[in-house]
Amino acid sequence: MDEGRDTPDPGGSGPAVAAGVRLSEVQEAYGRYTEHATRCWGCRAIDERCDTGERLHRAYRQVDEDARRRLIGDQPG
Ligand SMILES: [Zn+2]
Repeated sequence: MDEGRDTPDPGGSGPAVAAGVRLSEVQEAYGRYTEHATRCWGCRAIDERCDTGERLHRAYRQVDEDARRRLIGDQPG
């Protein structure tokens, strides 16, 4: 008799998150900056940024620059 054997639920571990599918660092940094900037009154004014906005913007530029440098320096051959 083979009854009483617990069979594990096949493939029942929720939606699989494909490895490697995530926003790039640049997009994430840019998203953080724009998300802040659209909500912050200090950042809505043209050519004005609050400290947080300034920091987020700088972080975005930094990540962006790094990514470009990596692309350029990462060519095969
Ligand atoms: Zn701000």
